Amino acid sequence: MPPTATPKENVQFPRFLLLYGSATGQAQAIAEEIAEKAPAFGLSPHLLCLEMTGKRFNIEDEKCIVVITSTTGDGDPPGNAEKFVRRLKKRTLGSDYLAHLHYALLGLGDQNYSNFCRCGKDMDARFLELGAKQFYPTGFADDGVGLEVVAEPWLEGLYPALQKFLGVNSLTLLTEQVEALSIVPSESGDANPAQNKLNSGKIFQTEAVSTNNNSLSTNNNSVDHSNEVKNHEVIISNSFESSPTKIDFTDDRKAAVISDLSSLKQQKEFFDSARTLETPCRLLDISTEDYNLSPLFFSDNNLLEKSLTVPVYPPDFLKAEFSANNVKLQELSHQNDLKLPCAASSVLRVKVTDSRVLTHPDALKKSLLVSLDLKECDMDYRPGDSISVICYNSCSEVDMLLDRLGVSDSADLCMTLTVIPDTKKRRASVPAHITPVTTLRHALTTACNIRETPTKALIRVLLEYTSQPKEIRRMQELCSKEGAQIYTSVVREKRVSLLDFLFAFPSCRPPLERILEHLPRLQPRPYSACSCSQVDKDRLDFVFNVVDLPGRVQEARYFHRRGVCTGWLDDITNGIQAGESEQPIIEIPIFLRTNQHFRPPSDLSQPLIMIGPGTGVAPFIGFLRERQYYRQQMTQDEGYGETWLVYGCRHSKRDFLFKEELQQFESDETLSCLCVALSREEPLEDDKALHCRYVQDYLRRLSSDVAQLLCDKDALVYVCGDATGMAKEVSQAFEYILKQEKGLSDEDANMFIMKKRIHKTYLEDVWT
Ligand code: NAP
Repeated sequence: MPPTATPKENVQFPRFLLLYGSATGQAQAIAEEIAEKAPAFGLSPHLLCLEMTGKRFNIEDEKCIVVITSTTGDGDPPGNAEKFVRRLKKRTLGSDYLAHLHYALLGLGDQNYSNFCRCGKDMDARFLELGAKQFYPTGFADDGVGLEVVAEPWLEGLYPALQKFLGVNSLTLLTEQVEALSIVPSESGDANPAQNKLNSGKIFQTEAVSTNNNSLSTNNNSVDHSNEVKNHEVIISNSFESSPTKIDFTDDRKAAVISDLSSLKQQKEFFDSARTLETPCRLLDISTEDYNLSPLFFSDNNLLEKSLTVPVYPPDFLKAEFSANNVKLQELSHQNDLKLPCAASSVLRVKVTDSRVLTHPDALKKSLLVSLDLKECDMDYRPGDSISVICYNSCSEVDMLLDRLGVSDSADLCMTLTVIPDTKKRRASVPAHITPVTTLRHALTTACNIRETPTKALIRVLLEYTSQPKEIRRMQELCSKEGAQIYTSVVREKRVSLLDFLFAFPSCRPPLERILEHLPRLQPRPYSACSCSQVDKDRLDFVFNVVDLPGRVQEARYFHRRGVCTGWLDDITNGIQAGESEQPIIEIPIFLRTNQHFRPPSDLSQPLIMIGPGTGVAPFIGFLRERQYYRQQMTQDEGYGETWLVYGCRHSKRDFLFKEELQQFESDETLSCLCVALSREEPLEDDKALHCRYVQDYLRRLSSDVAQLLCDKDALVYVCGDATGMAKEVSQAFEYILKQEKGLSDEDANMFIMKKRIHKTYLEDVWT
């Protein structure tokens, strides 16, 4: 086990309160990382969730706090931060209410969404308004480009800032230092994985002298001052001989003794029906593919000669033990009963009644409409609402991972997870999403996101179990500070999965516990309802594109894969799509998601512009069905507001979703205007001048009418679809129109849209 920084027992470090508000667990993970590392800097964090406000902490009583908070939904605080934010916003609080408080804050968000880091920004502004002072500048990390771009330097600076503020003047603890290393391959070409796989020369444990009250006694063990000492990093320099890559996936892990074969058979059978329905993942054939073409594989010339700064090895904390005990998989709760994100209902198993392909076989993407029967369950939903589908990883992908980790023989045995008794990790626990007594296959199939892109911390762990020097060096590059950009372009942007990574580094053979420690939770997948409960209360339809990604070494994808949920839904409903008469009953677990604003207006006279290219049109089909339903009940005197839909697809004959129904809405005047942008269809000669490629082009083309609707009729604007490009460009198009048609300045046009957002008359339901 690698050495880790260990604080001396019984030492009182200066305390600070460390708070997090987290929707998906990222903010919590960062807060936990701070809690883990802070003692090595002579600091004592008290880690709490913001929802403990009033129960376990009061910021009124605190002198120093660090807050990590994400933002969710339409710029809302995460559920577990709501109470804290509500209390903070109380109008009765005076401007010196928090005058005693010093804080550091890291907001997490995604620039692709309009309310980037809203919760963090609001909290920061309110702290200052109430007289609190920053002891360290606030950071806003963008998940769109990678949280680490801002979070890593922010965290790096946080510890010295805390030390300065709390009066900890120097290192007080053991640190890890590795002298400049030279990786010398053994005759077989491998470094010795059983020892220090970095072949990293001496490891010095140094205990520096502290000058403040918390000082430990001076004790200087073999400090080599020629080596740079950093208190939370290992500095590695490069120099190694390359040696031929050898692929060896053999399993040296011995399965537990199996005394009860019937139990093992039962566990295997549990997944059999899923296995028979699925399209298996296919590994690229090594005999025909050149794995060396993978961008994961090549060391970067610019980094070859450089010393690298890599993260300290995160402490091991999980232990898996296997036995022949029977595990009743049917009785296991989903993900250990961990709270589901954004759930507005309990989990319901609902029957799939229909599954229809909406696109032509020549379309670029296959869109599927799935209908669910809500008769037996109590779920009230409205247009604009969405559901989450609880999905599972593909059996064949799990098989590949088990095989690659060399643990296939243990996969269906009873696995008991416990915390290593003498782990150096603070507050170590079995990951909350994994049931402590389960089978490995069950955990990897139902609880862990095995597609997750390896984090730098995981890469740091993996390199410890890698024997081939060239691979070690490349992994060092990928997790190093100096290789940050390479990590982004080669690992993150390519969405490399753990399996891709392991295939790229064949001499890496990590124990499965290290993997389970780092794999995050498999999240349910959200889809907008496109049906209308007023028209048919027992039915809920949703639509999605089936994601299909062929393996391609040059893209660092070593196997063919489909979307975890979309591929699974496509597979299990294949028989229905083919119109087979003998169909087994198919049920899927779903729950309703919270939705505060994205709903059609109850006042039918209110004009609205809906913009939804691709499957982004889904909620608007529900809106229009509802409007049509209520409109039919209107008396003639009542006004019906102008109703626009700006839709976009590639070809009118291939992927125009809900074409007939939309044309019907237009002809019965439920829609006053249906605009369809066709991004890849050559217009006829006569239509060239009017052709619009994208929805935003259509808005611009009709700018005078749009400006009138926006400014004179106070139309509601709804945008649904892709957050990365479309939503931003639509917003820019509106600003352009306001400038063109109403003569507004850049600033005023921007403010106009901003105000509409604040008043919830410009609403977005956009996803990356
Ligand atoms: P898509 O098929 O990829 O694209 C639909 C149309 O949008 C195509 O014509 C495409 O043109 C065009 N387009 C591409 N880039 C654009 C841009 N920057 N601005 C405007 N139009 C652009 O769409 P999709 O796969 O259905 O994706 C829709 C998005 O909606 C996804 O992000 C999805 O997650 C989200 N969403 C889905 C649901 C749901 O319930 N399934 C609900 C809400 C939102 P070209 O490709 O020819 O450039």
